[in-house]
Amino acid sequence: MMADEAGGGDVRTVLASTFGYQSFRPHQGEIIESVLSGQDVFALMPTGGGKSLCYQLPALLLDGVTIVVSPLIALMKDQVDALRQLGVPATYINSTVDAQEISVRQRLVADGGIKLLYVAPERLMLPGFLRWLASIRVALFAIDEAHCISEWGHDFRPEYRELRRLRELFPAVPMAAFTATATARVQTDITRELALRDSARFRGSFNRPNLFYDVRAKRNAFDDILKYLHAHPGASGIIYCGSRKETERLAADLNTAGISALPYHAGLPEQQRHGNQEAFSRDRVRVIVATIAFGMGIDKPDVRFVIHYDLPRTLENYYQESGRAGRDGDPSDCILYYSGADAMRLRYFAGEKATQEEQRIALGQAQQMIDWAESTVCRRKRLLAYFDEPFEGQDEPCCDICASSTGEQEDVTVAAQKLLSCVIRTRERFGVTHVVAVLRGSREKKVLAFGHDRLSTHGIGSGQPKEFWLDLAKHLIGMGALRQDQERFNTLSVTDAGRRVLLEGERVMMPVKQRETASQVAMVAAYPDLFERLRALRRRLADERNVAPFIIFYDAVLREMCTRLPTRVVELTAIPGVGESRAEGYGQLFLDEIARYRSETGATPSETISEPLVKRRKRPNDSVSETVRLFNEGNTPEEIAGLRGFVARTIYDHLAEAIQSGEISNIDRLVSPERQAIITDAMKQVGEALLTPVRDYLGDGYSYEELRVVRAKLRTSPPGERGSDN
Ligand code: ADP
Repeated sequence: MMADEAGGGDVRTVLASTFGYQSFRPHQGEIIESVLSGQDVFALMPTGGGKSLCYQLPALLLDGVTIVVSPLIALMKDQVDALRQLGVPATYINSTVDAQEISVRQRLVADGGIKLLYVAPERLMLPGFLRWLASIRVALFAIDEAHCISEWGHDFRPEYRELRRLRELFPAVPMAAFTATATARVQTDITRELALRDSARFRGSFNRPNLFYDVRAKRNAFDDILKYLHAHPGASGIIYCGSRKETERLAADLNTAGISALPYHAGLPEQQRHGNQEAFSRDRVRVIVATIAFGMGIDKPDVRFVIHYDLPRTLENYYQESGRAGRDGDPSDCILYYSGADAMRLRYFAGEKATQEEQRIALGQAQQMIDWAESTVCRRKRLLAYFDEPFEGQDEPCCDICASSTGEQEDVTVAAQKLLSCVIRTRERFGVTHVVAVLRGSREKKVLAFGHDRLSTHGIGSGQPKEFWLDLAKHLIGMGALRQDQERFNTLSVTDAGRRVLLEGERVMMPVKQRETASQVAMVAAYPDLFERLRALRRRLADERNVAPFIIFYDAVLREMCTRLPTRVVELTAIPGVGESRAEGYGQLFLDEIARYRSETGATPSETISEPLVKRRKRPNDSVSETVRLFNEGNTPEEIAGLRGFVARTIYDHLAEAIQSGEISNIDRLVSPERQAIITDAMKQVGEALLTPVRDYLGDGYSYEELRVVRAKLRTSPPGERGSDN
């Protein structure tokens, strides 16, 4: 039997060979270390932080099965599919699985054939299931979405409460709890309810550096959205709306405008809701227009934009919803359309709460949201401040404010004095729009009706555009020189600080803006038409296997392919995110498509694009010959790996290359002649382009290494003698 990569090896080896990542995200390494040492763990990490790896990787190295508790039944299949694609034996048990199949799966687990078992909490806590659990070897309980245990969380699930019995029943099994919900109250609840012992605690940063925050005035928002969608043709994403009706209307309008979109809200029949969600996550539809009912349970990693058509209720909600963009780490946009009317509506709803206490809380939350939308300082900084996290800034502009600021400040004291004075002349009884109209010398009805055309401040601001005055007003509100009274239709009044500016000439500095706001998503692949072809291929493969497309390869991987135009499987595994089994499983089909494209168009690799993404594998040219030399001396691939300090996988790559080029002709030492015959026969049956079907055909008794060696041998023969490609 050949090397079993998953079973042995250290953490880094498994990270690279099984998961295809070159490094850990923040905290992953330490969390994994704690889990492996048998300590309880509590990890607070934002969406997209990479929680799953923190239990999936240890599961491969620990003795026994890791039980993953998750409330998201709809996601279990995708998660398990994804693991299987990586070559990790995993399965799930929940209400969608029938009794007979459950006992099959339980037997598999009991026989030690499964490293990760996903279970819904209500199933886990059934007496019979617990008895069965006690009879097998459980390595770890990983509690995902652990905040569901707390009544104070935004997603309390009574079933989760039952989990408190796990500690009593399985005192020896370590527990690892994961959540993205940050409040202290919820954290305390989780620790207490699960009876975590002396747990190692981790708190990830809530900063999502790849998200660009952009607040836009809600004027012609639909046209603006269309413009955005046309400017980013490959991008798919979510549009959140405040009401069910609006989701349907907007989705219909988008379809009319030629953008495929589906609605999603709690009022749709279960089946349709599920179908629409699936159409989105499988890339059959580009946009999902949803109420907040569309939330947890979306783990599509390549959501390129999250647009809020209406104002969310709280900043925490906004963070969670917008956070569904860009889990894959690629640049993504979070756009919020904002208007004073929306702000008023939010306050109105807060005031409708049943008790005074609830009203107070809701109003406070609404105000935080509104302040954020109206902020004149970096939005990321303010969002992180909400989570008590400092932010020092980053090199690239990270929000509309940073992007539109030139980094310079200008002295706007005189303009500020004009504005403040106009507020006073209009008797502090009007909102921004009216004050600006007066400043700019408007003769509109309302101005004339109040006689404001006769004020000394009428028209003193006509030298500057309306936008300038609106920005300045926001800035003065932000710095506390103006107050905006929400109770009284947002009327402006001048504060003490404002009087100092007006009367004592205290200076006001404002960031200088530039014209265009940069959008973050500029993710054109080197060859956009090839990118589309690879996406089509991916969609077809995903449909055939009934899995989501990203389970095959991420967008970032496809883009990297367009840049590098690889010709060999080994080059594919050098792309971050391409695990070995996926490269084996699908690589050849993608390579074929790329080869066709190259011969049709004469395209050449443009390596300079997204260079930093590319993992550089040290591989001197004579590396293969060195492996061949050691092989000819009688060493096994594993021994060569040890001698050379490579993983066995690399040595097999070398050997396959040498076999295919004819440098090594006898492979009997690698695979017995009998097995060669069986494998060759299987390849004749199901083709050799993809190894996964061959492996499925032959069963677990055959390793990918053996298959690759035999395929390399087959490929030295004239093409006519090969198994048919499928
Ligand atoms: P969470 O559950 O915390 O929201 P996931 O576990 O779904 O996050 O991971 C988010 C994304 O990050 C996934 O697409 C995953 O493949 C990717 N990812 C996780 N760990 C790493 C890593 N070390 N390097 C690169 N990508 C990673």
